[in-house]
Amino acid sequence: GSTIGILGGGQLGRMIAVAAAQLGYHCHIYTPEKDSVAAEVAAKFTCAGWHDKAALAGFAAACDVVTYEFENVPVAPLAVFVGGQLAPGVAALEVAQDRFREKRFVEQLGGTTAPYAPIDHESEIEAALLKVGIPGILKTRRDGYDGKGQWKVASPADALGLRMPESGLVYEGLVHFVCEFSVILVRARNGEVRFWDSAHNTHENGILAHSVLPAPAIVAEQVGEARAMAARVAEALGYVGVMTAEFFATRGGPVLNELAPRVHNSGHWTIEGAVTSQFENHVRAICGLPLGDTASTADRIVMDNLIGEGSLDIARHLADPKARLHLYGKAEARAGRKMGHITRVG
Ligand code: ATP
Ligand code: MG
Ligand code: MG
Repeated sequence: GSTIGILGGGQLGRMIAVAAAQLGYHCHIYTPEKDSVAAEVAAKFTCAGWHDKAALAGFAAACDVVTYEFENVPVAPLAVFVGGQLAPGVAALEVAQDRFREKRFVEQLGGTTAPYAPIDHESEIEAALLKVGIPGILKTRRDGYDGKGQWKVASPADALGLRMPESGLVYEGLVHFVCEFSVILVRARNGEVRFWDSAHNTHENGILAHSVLPAPAIVAEQVGEARAMAARVAEALGYVGVMTAEFFATRGGPVLNELAPRVHNSGHWTIEGAVTSQFENHVRAICGLPLGDTASTADRIVMDNLIGEGSLDIARHLADPKARLHLYGKAEARAGRKMGHITRVG
């Protein structure tokens, strides 16, 4: 087939659509957002929301394969996609949408997570803090991203007066990490798995700010175990496409922070810095094409996110001949909003 449907309309969808276009595919974007930066480079499918059954049926009929660029898509309406049309499938969404299920799933596969306790009701907060210990972080079980829906707990008083989100919370112990890295893999329909190099990720205000290769030595020591863990997760989910697992490198080994069932910001450097980018290999995997080489093309690669107002001094960015600038075409530069990124290779 030659038409790819993408659920979600952000910059990840936009970059998938660009890679798909290069391989000769058409993309349809399905999103309730009015201003979709993905729809600016592809065709926007008319819909009234995630629960618009008629629109989703039309989308399923119009697309040969359907993927998602965002893990908070409601799962129930996706039953319209059958027979492997949706890649990755709903199993990956169900696990990755819910921080409690995700941690339990990873543990069942032998992985290490932060210590955690689910909280369904305010009355359970105290016991969760006791069980896991302080300091820690309260996180909404669902719908969080870019550090939204998280509250640091340094003393029991910090957990008082919290308005309980409908889906509940997870309380996580604070992990004392040396650094953060992610394992980004692509899994083909025939089960073949390939990995990109793992960059060192640094965050500012809960948002990824930089991904740098090479990562510190501790990442090289732990990436083998982390890759094996991520591959077990992908296999257990029957995963097809690019999958990301965020890790903390700790003195006691790799700790899995969270899964992203999609291409990932910490893999944007692969556009210029790998033989085949995460976006192209995602398209190849879901379309049943052979996977491309994931090898890095240089030893030193730096990706800097452009976040919020004041990040878009285009003339300054372009003055560096090594800087490859990516702008997402967002109309408004709000604080904490990812506006673009810059990659420098070599
Ligand atoms: P994303 O945009 O990556 O989906 P998110 O909102 O899901 O972000 P997390 O990945 O849970 O947020 O947390 C964001 C960052 O906060 C982490 O990358 C890490 O730097 C820090 N953090 C989160 N949980 C912990 C923890 N248990 N211990 C230490 N640091 C943590
Ligand atoms: Mg997340
Ligand atoms: Mg994260």
